Amino acid sequence: SPRTVLISGCSSGIGLELAVQLAHDPRQCYQVVATMRDLGKKEALEASAGSALGKTLTVAQLDVCNDDSVAQCLSHIPGGDVDVLVNNAGVGLVGPLEGLSITTMQNVFDTNFFGAIRLVKAVLPSMKKRRRGHIVVVSSVMGLQGVMFNDVYAASKFALEGFFESLAIQLLQFNIFVSLVEPGPVITEFEGKLLAQISTSEFPGADPDTLAFFRDLYLPASAELFRSVGQSPQDVAKVIVKVIGATRPPLRRQTNARYAPLTVLRAVDPSGGLYVRMAHRLLFRWPGLLSLGLRCLAGGCFPKRVWPG
Ligand code: NAD
Repeated sequence: SPRTVLISGCSSGIGLELAVQLAHDPRQCYQVVATMRDLGKKEALEASAGSALGKTLTVAQLDVCNDDSVAQCLSHIPGGDVDVLVNNAGVGLVGPLEGLSITTMQNVFDTNFFGAIRLVKAVLPSMKKRRRGHIVVVSSVMGLQGVMFNDVYAASKFALEGFFESLAIQLLQFNIFVSLVEPGPVITEFEGKLLAQISTSEFPGADPDTLAFFRDLYLPASAELFRSVGQSPQDVAKVIVKVIGATRPPLRRQTNARYAPLTVLRAVDPSGGLYVRMAHRLLFRWPGLLSLGLRCLAGGCFPKRVWPG
């Protein structure tokens, strides 16, 4: 029988694409419950789902920050039995720390971290009882290494990495797998939403030097990064479909081979110092070299696959 897959954050981006790809699985292996916080935004998903709508894909309301919404959503799933949970919902936050309120930062953790945990707590008892299940988490390369001015967002993804690596050990005993998927930059509404936040934000409390580094160094470098190695949500979804279909799902899986040279520095020097010094130099001393390097990555100057699988 088909596996029930519950995905959070399906009104756009990676969640939408993943829901559609799974629903169109040629062997109809999946019954997809594509959820979103605001059902008023379901049009794009329904249009992309096409003939799968109402058959292998149903749309449901779910706010990962709300206990009642989670309980209500699961009450519509027969037995509340979810076979595959995909924690995809997430929000970004960039900018100088001094200009961000603690409430704004807590909101990022409420969605990205506690939102995922709220869902896991809700589906785990049934998975444990049935001795089967797969929990997939859309993390980020920023769950593996920090990026300037993304301090809080990266922290929320690092938190997920630590939490789910810990949980994975226990869950193996219940035949439940955990997979952390780590995309690099993906061209979705995510970046646009961030840039919109920035344009209306004054970052009160940030000093002029820091603000200048943010606007004149970070923002152009980030835009260049998206332009050069940005992936489509379709490509990211394809990787997640493979992870979900694997008989022995990996604990970690990056999605973007062109981004890999940027995560390799961390592996070369486990102290992390080399990565921090190189990132600092590239941003503050040699921004020209950084753009050249990114263009080189975009042109495929580096080997395509540098990690197994
Ligand atoms: P997106 O903005 O298109 O999708 C995020 C989705 O999460 C949206 O549909 C949004 O409505 C939803 N969401 C936010 N708060 C929610 C809540 N409280 N309850 C339910 N849904 C909520 O962007 P995306 O790129 O598709 O992001 C999906 C995931 O991928 C996120 O976890 C993000 O951190 C991660 N990611 C994105 C990138 C990128 O560059 N776009 C890179 C690495 C990882």
